[in-house]
Amino acid sequence: MYSPYIRKTVIILCILSSSVFGYEPQIGHLPISQIALSEYALCDQQNPTIFKQQIKLRMLQGNKAMDHGTWSFSAKDEDLAYGLLTFHYISRITNWHFYHPDSNIKSRHGKFEMSHVRLWNWAKQGLNRASSNTDKALFLGALVHLTEDISVPAHTIPVFHGPATVKYLDTSGYLSQAIKGDSITTIIKDPIDYIPLDKAAISQYFSVNRQQICKQISSTNHLTVDQIRHQLALKTHLAIEQNIAKCPNVRWSAFWPRNIDNHYFGQYHFGMIFGQSGKLIQDTGNYCQFDVNDSRYKTFVNDRHIDAIIADMQLFEWFKSNFL
Ligand SMILES: [Zn+2]
Repeated sequence: MYSPYIRKTVIILCILSSSVFGYEPQIGHLPISQIALSEYALCDQQNPTIFKQQIKLRMLQGNKAMDHGTWSFSAKDEDLAYGLLTFHYISRITNWHFYHPDSNIKSRHGKFEMSHVRLWNWAKQGLNRASSNTDKALFLGALVHLTEDISVPAHTIPVFHGPATVKYLDTSGYLSQAIKGDSITTIIKDPIDYIPLDKAAISQYFSVNRQQICKQISSTNHLTVDQIRHQLALKTHLAIEQNIAKCPNVRWSAFWPRNIDNHYFGQYHFGMIFGQSGKLIQDTGNYCQFDVNDSRYKTFVNDRHIDAIIADMQLFEWFKSNFL
């Protein structure tokens, strides 16, 4: 009885094999986590090797596996409780990486969990059940990944991006409302997922603000992982509600209007995609003109990357306080 589903699933697996939900791992997730690791070590000058190399590698492996699946896993890793549920491709098809901070917004649709909540809970349970800290770090990598994604507006408004094919697995028509693109191979990409980190600007930011950031990290070591995630989601929501510099009447949120009634997903702006040159027209009629290399785009994305790095550091602090 599952065969049509499985056939479709195989098609989706092929499409998913290019990473499509969230930051592109090599461009986004891994550099964000690596900078967070080195900044975190700088915060604790007395104890810079608190995260042993093996813990770091396992965390990065878990982070990457959230998009790439379990290819790099050993058989032993696959046997870990919640290992396959958290990291396997099959699990990925019905568990996406979006997250809206308001828990009243319904994210379940049939077999699909459009938000990351199931993955998040499996990762937490996997972490608690794992007997060694290096295995726990693998699941920490999953939490780090899902948290980093939330710094991308389209992940937490949320606006669907990924393989448009998934809508063909849903016969109710609900997903078709939010997922544009008719071809079975269409992959909707979010431009922010593909913008590399401006490492010079980030390093400049941390060298000026390091003391205060380190203080903030250690003073928030009582936060739970859920609270860390929630704070980052609110930060991203707050950022898109700001007016765009030099356009006092237009907000960043105009790029991602929430104009489908009662739908989990908002949409991309009809005429203008983030990063493009042109006129962003808000529903009020006010507009904002952008150049292709507009520095306001760069500043906006840089701020999101910095938020993600700081949230990672908070997760590391949580891990250290609870397990090391
Ligand atoms: Zn992701």
